[in-house]
Amino acid sequence: MAAWRYLRPGVAVLWRAPGASQVGIDPRCAVVLDDLDPLQQALLEQLPRLGGEPELNAYARTLGVGRAPVRELLDRLEELGYLVSGYPTSDTPDDRYWHLAAIAGHARPGQRSAASVLVRGLDQLGLRIAQILAQAGIGRVVPDDDRPVTLDDLGGGGYRTHDLGRPRRERALTLLRGTSPMTALTAPAAVPPDLVVLVEHGAVDAVRVRPLMRDDVAHLPVLVRELDVVVGPLVRPGAGPCLRCLDLHRRDEDPRWPAVATQITASPPDGVETSLGWLGAALAAHQVLAVVDGRGVLVAGTSLEVSATYPLPRYREWAVHPDCGCTRPAEHDDAAAAPVGRPGGVS
Ligand SMILES: [Zn+2]
Repeated sequence: MAAWRYLRPGVAVLWRAPGASQVGIDPRCAVVLDDLDPLQQALLEQLPRLGGEPELNAYARTLGVGRAPVRELLDRLEELGYLVSGYPTSDTPDDRYWHLAAIAGHARPGQRSAASVLVRGLDQLGLRIAQILAQAGIGRVVPDDDRPVTLDDLGGGGYRTHDLGRPRRERALTLLRGTSPMTALTAPAAVPPDLVVLVEHGAVDAVRVRPLMRDDVAHLPVLVRELDVVVGPLVRPGAGPCLRCLDLHRRDEDPRWPAVATQITASPPDGVETSLGWLGAALAAHQVLAVVDGRGVLVAGTSLEVSATYPLPRYREWAVHPDCGCTRPAEHDDAAAAPVGRPGGVS
């Protein structure tokens, strides 16, 4: 016998007129059923409350009718993609979102619980990225930063005043354990993560990421600057521009950039403006999840710059630098001709 059919969690049913009901709200997943007889409309309206086929059959019995009208209604909803086979075992906001997104043509993420992401740099923004990834279902989220919590790190949902002066990693572990108890928080020996998020301030130190290039580990820089947060480009070693490529482009634009960058990377980190701290963290986590889910990734060879004064990102594309050597010339001849846009030393 086939499994009972259930309405996808989160699907709303709204009465519009006699014989017409709306299923779903968002135009990307909503449809109007406008030729319902009174019995079908009554059954449809009860479906979100009852859940699925067995409950709806029982309700039909109380109305003195058999299973045929229930089956006919569910066949129609199944054809539109609103039903799942078997009782939905989980009903979190994330589950409901992805059930509705599936109707709109976006595959439900299936790889998150098997993925591991290391977040290096646990200021307020970095901690938030780790929290989002853990809550969104990444199976292993490893916080990495033994610098102490500072006043600039305190923020909603993150470090509190009693964390001041204590190692960020230790406090991040406690916070993550409290909100995401199912998430693994430590890295097994000799097993690299699938992706490393690098949260830096002012400039990214390309030297510090050499081990990631050597070990072929994908990494996503998240750079906090004075007026914006720059997410990307995602570096997949050997398959596009790396962080040294970016440094070399900046050197081309500004020959004194190496001297300036050395001073920046040696400076203590500043904090991040409040709304920008949330916006940058959400954008970075969104792109990490896109990588893990296998969806389109905007930060492939591109950085996204967001500020506290305008919510939409500014895009900046990057090319492999011909002097870098990180990618074989045959793989980047076209892209290496010139950086796209203006990488800009101090912009
Ligand atoms: Zn490179």
